[in-house]
Amino acid sequence: MPGKTAASAAARENLDPIHISEQQFDRAVGYIKGFKKGLFEFLRKPKRITIVHFPIELDDESVQSFKGIRVVHNRVFGPGKGGIRYHPDVSLEEVISLAKLMTWKCALVDIPFGGAKGGVVCDPKNSSERELRRITRRFTAELFDVIGPHTDIPAPDLYTSEQTMAWIFDTYDVLHAGYNNRPVVTGKPLEMGGSPGRSEATGNGCVYATRRFLSKALIPDQQEIAGARVVIQGFGDVGSAAARGFFRAGAKIIAVSDSSGGICNTEGLDPEAVAAFKAEHGSVVGMPDTLTITNEELLEHECDILVPAALGNQIHAGNARNIKARLIVEGANNPTTPLADTILAEKGVYILPDILANAGGVTVSYYEWVQNQANEQWGLEQVTARLEARMHAAVDAVFNRWQSFAVGAEVPAGVAVEGEAAQPLPDFRTVALLIAIERVARATLIRGIWP
Ligand code: NAD
Repeated sequence: MPGKTAASAAARENLDPIHISEQQFDRAVGYIKGFKKGLFEFLRKPKRITIVHFPIELDDESVQSFKGIRVVHNRVFGPGKGGIRYHPDVSLEEVISLAKLMTWKCALVDIPFGGAKGGVVCDPKNSSERELRRITRRFTAELFDVIGPHTDIPAPDLYTSEQTMAWIFDTYDVLHAGYNNRPVVTGKPLEMGGSPGRSEATGNGCVYATRRFLSKALIPDQQEIAGARVVIQGFGDVGSAAARGFFRAGAKIIAVSDSSGGICNTEGLDPEAVAAFKAEHGSVVGMPDTLTITNEELLEHECDILVPAALGNQIHAGNARNIKARLIVEGANNPTTPLADTILAEKGVYILPDILANAGGVTVSYYEWVQNQANEQWGLEQVTARLEARMHAAVDAVFNRWQSFAVGAEVPAGVAVEGEAAQPLPDFRTVALLIAIERVARATLIRGIWP
């Protein structure tokens, strides 16, 4: 009875974000050899946690208290870097796990940042712009000596935008007059020192990573994006840019969704038309010539490539067996649970993990930070070419390392094998993580354990 098995597996699954990130970390560390005892215990823990409570006057003149969190996980390679999200479900556990993810992501794409993350527990969909501005300014003021261009650099995430970043910059700048404060935050509007290509960088990065991965021929009859049927959960910054990028590359976007539900047309959707409809009506749902489906149905829809680009834990033990995609490209952070990873690996579904697939955002954030230091602005072509090359290099690093583990394991046809001793073949998440953890571990020792 597969349905009953799936339901009981889902019920057993522990979705605590710290537990999940520990499981992923342990899987990866199991493949790493030769580091000092105790080093990995240090890498598990966040470096600094800041929690603030602050009052905001709402539009109806009542006062509401908000909780804001900022966590720096690691600064071995450079300042903490990571988004700020506004959502009712923001929790310390989630922010810690996302800060860790940022450490590994920056290390994997080889940029000189550590990992950080932040969030405010609030309901952005039911807050006015004026309220969101007050929340942002007050949260930034509370963090005035926590964030900084060389210590901890925020960026957009779930339900925060270029406008939010402009308010953060403005507030920080008022509190630190006389310095070049532009690099304190990335994902800013172009007029305020933002980088060309930043708003679509995460979605485009997903497309570049997918193209490079498909060219490795692990899916013999799908070696390029053209012709692939793509399903995308979430139609925000990441999901809509990914939809446009996949569409430009010749894929057929057959279903997309947002928090109100999903739409499907097996003949293909035009992302520009979907974006225009969403801008006018507030949701993709109801678009003419589409079938309305639920987010659950969307994830299990027949397709070649599934791009979760909304929330965490969307693919779990309860639905992993029903996923029909052959490749999952994680636009969102933590969309797949460890149990789902195992089930999908058994099914032969490949996953391009979050720290690889969605690293385009932090990569162009880094380019923005570099441009801000020099007070200059690069052209879009330069940013795009650099991003594409870096995403290709990261996919190659993960793929090559994965191949080196393939000795003695069951390997898909056509994969050349070399290298290390026989071990169970790790999935791509585990390989990406172990590369990143090794890099941070090595740098920690090179710097030297202080004092
Ligand atoms: P966003 O706020 O711009 O968009 C989020 C989208 O998800 C919206 O379309 C929203 O309607 C949809 N959504 C919300 N709840 C949903 C639900 N229950 N079911 C289906 N859809 C739902 O956020 P974003 O910046 O696009 O971020 C999306 C994900 O990508 C997050 O996990 C974020 O951490 C990750 N991410 C973002 C960036 C970036 O540069 N923005 C970079 C890396 C990773």
